[in-house]
Amino acid sequence: MKILFTVILTSLLVNLQAQTIHTHVPDRAIVFPDVPGYLTLKADLHMHTVFSDGEVWPSVRVQEAQRDSLDIISLTEHLEYQPHKGDIPHPDRNRAHEIGLKSAEKSDLIVVRGSEITRKMPPGHANAIFIKDANKLLMDDSVAVFKEAHEQGAFIFWNHPNWVAQKTNAIAELTKMHEKLIKQGYLNGIEVVNELTYSEEALQIALDNNLTIIGTSDVHVLIDWLYNVPEGGHRPVTLIFAKEKTEASIKEALFARRTAVWFNNTLIGREEMLTPLIKASVIIENAAYEETWRGPTEVLNVNFKNSSDASFMLYNKSGFTFHGHDDVIILEPHSITTLQVKTQAPQTDIDLKFTVLNAVTAPDTHPDIVWHVEVKE
Ligand SMILES: [Zn+2]
Ligand SMILES: [Zn+2]
Repeated sequence: MKILFTVILTSLLVNLQAQTIHTHVPDRAIVFPDVPGYLTLKADLHMHTVFSDGEVWPSVRVQEAQRDSLDIISLTEHLEYQPHKGDIPHPDRNRAHEIGLKSAEKSDLIVVRGSEITRKMPPGHANAIFIKDANKLLMDDSVAVFKEAHEQGAFIFWNHPNWVAQKTNAIAELTKMHEKLIKQGYLNGIEVVNELTYSEEALQIALDNNLTIIGTSDVHVLIDWLYNVPEGGHRPVTLIFAKEKTEASIKEALFARRTAVWFNNTLIGREEMLTPLIKASVIIENAAYEETWRGPTEVLNVNFKNSSDASFMLYNKSGFTFHGHDDVIILEPHSITTLQVKTQAPQTDIDLKFTVLNAVTAPDTHPDIVWHVEVKE
């Protein structure tokens, strides 16, 4: 009995291995491939330290980012909310950035100067990054502060427009004040993902108003605790598609809206960015007809190689049926999955079309992606 069980188990394992081969065991580094023409850079542009209401020193944020293999961060302390001021007096609001910058100086992590403008709704909270001097942003007028940040050359994005403390129904909604800020060029992006939340309404606001799609951790504690990193979790990041890994190039990409957000297992972004990212992440490595001892068959074995952290969930739109799958296929991260396509007659090439269910290009919208398959002779 035990032997029979072992035989069954072994054959099950062999079968499973035939379906999916893991190419390496992913560690905590966040991994997505570059896309044609651009580097895929990983950013967390919203976080806190003891210099506002966070619970860690700035160098810890730098070390966390290095462990996650991020390319760029910003320590965006609240300008107006300073609960640790009694214990850590710091008249200079640039200090968190300067400590972070020093701590990252021997690495290739970019740390850009930023601040969180912290107001009641409207306008709520906003991050200004690539600023020159945080101290000059300390002012009473809620609109003047945006103007000052803009004049310092900042990229400014609306933070957590769905935050229940300021919007009890969690529905992000544009006010007249936001419309005005956007019109003046004082609001350039919006958080569609903040900490543990996702806002479909914010995504729609981004698309309707040409705002850059942003996702951030807004971490106050430790990244590992908030996202259960030891168990395989990850912080939300903004993927920035930049020509080079420089501050100037990243800023250009942010203003040009070349971003996507990686949140849990979901990729969120404009179709023109998500399609190349998905196609770079999943490539067809090999396609050949299955042979039996009697000769060739019309079952085409197609190997999908996924070199990203995403577990892609594909819904079949190809018109073909499969020999080993139903119409939903999971491509696990960093693995090769064999799809057995019943082509009925021998083909030299086929197109396989799928809806990518874990990618979102607009509310309730998932992109259709076509993989062109050349059959090996
Ligand atoms: Zn905030
Ligand atoms: Zn914040």
